[in-house]
Amino acid sequence: MFEIKILEERCKSCGLCVHFCPKKVLDISSKRNSHGYRVVYAKNPEKCTMCGICYLVCPDVVFVKEEG
Ligand code: SF4
Ligand code: SF4
Repeated sequence: MFEIKILEERCKSCGLCVHFCPKKVLDISSKRNSHGYRVVYAKNPEKCTMCGICYLVCPDVVFVKEEG
């Protein structure tokens, strides 16, 4: 089983993954990384189908697949 890990330090708050997630799992949080960007987080993780779209659309490789 795989899980997708969010590498917050890479996030630039562009919102692409939030827009393209078909299950509305993701959102931008109020937490900022060391670069000053508000980081993405899984607001509704139970709805994730592991489709991988967030992984494909993120230009900053924030999502990494890990064997869980
Ligand atoms: S894997 Fe798919 S459903 Fe899960 S957060 Fe990413 S885009 Fe959304
Ligand atoms: S697409 Fe990547 S950089 Fe943009 S908000 Fe989502 S995780 Fe952050």
